[in-house]
Amino acid sequence: MTSPPLKITFLGTGTSTGVPMIACDCPVCTSPDKKDKRLRSSILVESATTSFVVDTTPDFRYQMLRENVKKLDAVLFTHPHKDHVAGLDDVKAFCYFSNKPMDVFANSLTEEALKREFPYVFAEQKYPGVPEINLNTIDLTPFMIGDIPVIPIMVWHMKMPVYAYRFGKFTYITDANRIEEPELEKVRGSEVMVVNTLRRQKHISHYALDEAIELVHEAAVPKAYFTHISHQLGKYADVNPTLPANMELAWDGLKLSFS
Ligand SMILES: [Zn+2]
Ligand SMILES: [Zn+2]
Repeated sequence: MTSPPLKITFLGTGTSTGVPMIACDCPVCTSPDKKDKRLRSSILVESATTSFVVDTTPDFRYQMLRENVKKLDAVLFTHPHKDHVAGLDDVKAFCYFSNKPMDVFANSLTEEALKREFPYVFAEQKYPGVPEINLNTIDLTPFMIGDIPVIPIMVWHMKMPVYAYRFGKFTYITDANRIEEPELEKVRGSEVMVVNTLRRQKHISHYALDEAIELVHEAAVPKAYFTHISHQLGKYADVNPTLPANMELAWDGLKLSFS
């Protein structure tokens, strides 16, 4: 499965509260730097013919407007936590203009949560205007979305299995704090990887900064970006220069291209 050329857009790079956090007066939350404004974490993946998002955050609507996305073929979920699924209702705009259901790819754990949290979407008798969802249950078997090959990678978010994904030369890992060796092998050979890092201090379900840096070394991937960042990590301008030369903090709106 060779991947077509891809464009990746960081729709959001913040942890579940976003940055700034509501009611916080800390120097990060009050920073005027655009790179310190972080919506909830998600990416847009595009080839010449196919486009999909990884997760629909509570900021999904604004993320689609900001990036002027006119067509979306699918949604691919990582796990059922609210900051990754809450925006699903807003796919109805794409259903409205395309006149077809939205393809959604999720593992069975996430699928259960979608049915629980959006019962009206899956009801027998639907009221008008609800999003039409075509649910595809996935496991760790590689599959295609349009012309883009998708390789699921299982990572651990404390005790919750979360799916990371590899698309060609690019790997996206969010909400993890542990990866077992056979799964890490799927990351190796990527040109670029993205990893969640919350802050410097240890956390029970997210990589701390030094743990994320260590993971990039273990995976031996030449370039890495960090995402799912908390205001506790510090300002972009203060933290980014302290990172190893091949690692950077991602920021909202950052775009990467793969030939
Ligand atoms: Zn703050
Ligand atoms: Zn999260």
